[in-house]
Amino acid sequence: MTTRIAIIGAGPCGLAQLRAFQSAAAKGAEIPELVCFEKQSDWGGMWNYTWRTGLDEHGEPVHGSMYRYLWSNGPKECLEFADYTFDEHFGRPMGSYPPREVLWDYIKGRVEKAGVRKYIQFNTAVRGVTFDAVSGQFEVTVHSYDRDLTSTDRFDYVVVASGHFSTPNVPYFEGFESFAGRVLHAHDFRDALEFKGKDVLIVGSSYSAEDIGSQCYKYGARSIISCYRSAPMGYKWPENWEEKPLLTHVKGSTAFFADGTSKHVDAIVLCTGYKHHFPFLAENLRLKTDNRLWPLNLYKGVFWEDNPKLIYLGMQDQWYSFNMFDAQAWYARDVILGRIALPDHAAMHAEDLAWREEELTLKNAQEMFEFQGKYIQTLIDATDYPSFDIAAVNQTFLEWKHDKYEDIMGYRNKCHRSLMTGTLATPHHTPWLEALDDSLEAYLADSPQTAIKAVG
Ligand SMILES: Cc1cc2nc3c(=O)[nH]c(=O)nc-3n(C[C@H](O)[C@H](O)[C@H](O)COP(=O)(O)OP(=O)(O)OC[C@H]3O[C@@H](n4cnc5c(N)ncnc54)[C@H](O)[C@@H]3O)c2cc1C
Repeated sequence: MTTRIAIIGAGPCGLAQLRAFQSAAAKGAEIPELVCFEKQSDWGGMWNYTWRTGLDEHGEPVHGSMYRYLWSNGPKECLEFADYTFDEHFGRPMGSYPPREVLWDYIKGRVEKAGVRKYIQFNTAVRGVTFDAVSGQFEVTVHSYDRDLTSTDRFDYVVVASGHFSTPNVPYFEGFESFAGRVLHAHDFRDALEFKGKDVLIVGSSYSAEDIGSQCYKYGARSIISCYRSAPMGYKWPENWEEKPLLTHVKGSTAFFADGTSKHVDAIVLCTGYKHHFPFLAENLRLKTDNRLWPLNLYKGVFWEDNPKLIYLGMQDQWYSFNMFDAQAWYARDVILGRIALPDHAAMHAEDLAWREEELTLKNAQEMFEFQGKYIQTLIDATDYPSFDIAAVNQTFLEWKHDKYEDIMGYRNKCHRSLMTGTLATPHHTPWLEALDDSLEAYLADSPQTAIKAVG
């Protein structure tokens, strides 16, 4: 009987899994039957922007957390696919920090070329996954929105590629119920223009805090305060941006902080992270972890040790992203195809624990991305995913970190060299702070003048 694989989600991870199998098929391998379930109407996951917040058109929680005007927060050279380069897709060099729509276009280009759309059932949400020990198969229950039908089917493997930046972690602060302005989580942030002329409080010190605050600054917020629990972000902020220790409570439209100071604020954006949330998985299959570099119980960061026919992609905190997902997907593919044998449970868990122990020793950003790079290297060494220079990617991450400390509002104007093709990025026609139009047309235009023409 044909082996059947269910892939949950057609974001970068699910698409990496489809591309991995297609690549093997193109080289003559016989591949299993693939069915990818995607609850949205198009592919690309997070990169497929939605204006919606709260519930989607089907009454389900909106998946998307990306906002208008989002530009890559790391150099594109660090996330480049090794089997489909920016040069191949765009046919010319460009800036190192493209906007969301440009990266979405790039993600789509690879899978359009691979012809894998036929494997995806769109508008289909996975509602339940259980494992039947007798048959050794998973029962996967899905709801097709188009047909308004729920059905259950059997699969030999399940790949969970549903992402982990969609279910917000929302803390409570005293006084929120009577706060005079708007309180929202980063998950519901869409358009920074909403905060033009406003005093904005950002709670948190992660990437979201840094970037949503920067968006608000760029699009004309009157003032920004960001507040932290453990440590300030420590960048050289513009004059109207202040960092404070954590919010203690609010009263009316005044926010109070742990250092005893207070300030008027019009809106509060909670950049307080996301939860790994898999309501569709049976209890014995469910990964439970915080957002970290080494979630436990996943052999090679991928295989659910208690049942390695269940595969999780992209569940780590991400320095590396697209090419890490590829490395994982290629490895998972080769295990499914029988090219790589898994060790027994005890050996898998021992290796898993060794990675966790090492993760616990990491002291700074550099050690963290080097750790993730080393992990990726172990995966790509074992498969035919095109090899690339991880040490050089780490070096680019280091330069990026340095650029941010030099100029947090200017690092996106810097250019890096592709580690896949050697192509040096070219400066964008408009510095990031002044580039208010983030559309694909405006970004790919040759000059600010043609950009204006392109978008009418
Ligand atoms: C605001 C924000 C900014 C980011 N910026 C960057 C950046 O600049 N650079 C970078 O490299 N990374 C960035 N990321 C990280 C980003 O999440 C990853 O790049 C990537 O999208 C992760 O891919 P994924 O496939 O794991 O998850 P996702 O992209 O989240 O895709 C998961 C897919 O699964 C589908 N799905 C979920 N549940 C179900 C279900 N039950 N049934 C069917 N389908 C389901 C979803 O609809 C979605 O399409 C950012 C993330 C956020 C939230």
